[in-house]
Amino acid sequence: MPSQTHAIANGKLSKSKTDVSGIESLIRSLLKKHTTPFMIIRESVLKKQYERFRKCLPEVTPYYAIKANPHPKIIKTFIKLGASFDVASAAEMKQVLRLGASPSKIIFANTIKRVEDIITARKRRVRLMTFDNEPELYKLSEHYPGAHVLVRIKVENQGSMVELSLKFGADPENAFVLLRKAKSLGLVPMGVSFHVGSQSKNVENYLQALEISAKIFEEAEENGMPLKVMDIGGGFPIQHFDSEIGVNFERMAAQIRKQMKLLFDRRVRFIAEPGRFLVGPSGILVTQVIGRTFRNNKNYYYLNDGIYQDFSGMVFDHCKYEFKTFRRGQKFLSTLAGPTCDSFDTLSVNEEIPELYLNDVVFVKNIGAYSSASACSGFNGFEPAKIVII
Ligand SMILES: *Cc1c(COP(=O)(O)O)cnc(C)c1O
Repeated sequence: MPSQTHAIANGKLSKSKTDVSGIESLIRSLLKKHTTPFMIIRESVLKKQYERFRKCLPEVTPYYAIKANPHPKIIKTFIKLGASFDVASAAEMKQVLRLGASPSKIIFANTIKRVEDIITARKRRVRLMTFDNEPELYKLSEHYPGAHVLVRIKVENQGSMVELSLKFGADPENAFVLLRKAKSLGLVPMGVSFHVGSQSKNVENYLQALEISAKIFEEAEENGMPLKVMDIGGGFPIQHFDSEIGVNFERMAAQIRKQMKLLFDRRVRFIAEPGRFLVGPSGILVTQVIGRTFRNNKNYYYLNDGIYQDFSGMVFDHCKYEFKTFRRGQKFLSTLAGPTCDSFDTLSVNEEIPELYLNDVVFVKNIGAYSSASACSGFNGFEPAKIVII
């Protein structure tokens, strides 16, 4: 039905047009008050993502993985919304506690913990944690007897942008034995956790991991050690590019939910550790052109933010971004680079963008996660973008 297709296409076109001008006018108004580079974090989007998660996975308690973006105002926003938190170190733990989170709403989800961090967890009564190996259990039983433990298993990370099973996770066949060992050492075996890898567009990773986990629950039940908590980790994907296909959180969540209902007892408590999903879409990075030249037959534009600062996700997060400008018209193949004296500090060598001039704005949406969090301070004298929360 060509007429309907046409109508849908028109609908999409007009929506994206208003989105663009809305974001452009937001940036223009903030440019009057702030110097670039700055990272806009929209509280309304944090709230929207949190509510989307709750609505699509109502049986799953989200523990925001603060490593994605530990800005205090973001943590406070999630505390107000009733979220729980995933921390990986004593410093992260102290930060969320200081901002008002309850210790009962924190999971210490680093499977390899420093002894002094385990001691901090005990003192601060953060009781729930993950592990994936036997030596860690000896550490925990010595420094935190009675800790509640989830065994993290190794699962498929196929199609995920960031592989995590390369470094973490016990073989599922050993999971029950490890939990039984935990019990014999005076710890409390609570359940199973996994992480399918970050930005996992492939729902099969979750479905398969749940199936493997359910078998461990069965084995534990049969051996008189019933488990209570199933932690489905993070990895929930977002759209980094406007035209990106294959990211449909609603559909993915529905499939995950169906699998949980099919395989687990109703009394099992589900938790998750979303990072990128909750904070990524809220961020817009605004930079300006500080220099331009023509070399290698291309326009070269130098921006005041780069790989060492808020584009650090290009290295650590294996992320690519969509660079946008306020200019319209003919596009030329161009290179975008950061401000430091390192040719590694190149953001793209094949951007199709209109001709830009000094001080022109270049901005990137969906960059709230794994960006400022891993930016390094002061390399070559350049600081990360100021964070502007609106
Ligand atoms: C990084 C991390 C997360 C968050 O992952 P996202 O892909 O951002 O959702 C959750 N849990 C653990 C253990 C992590 O290391």
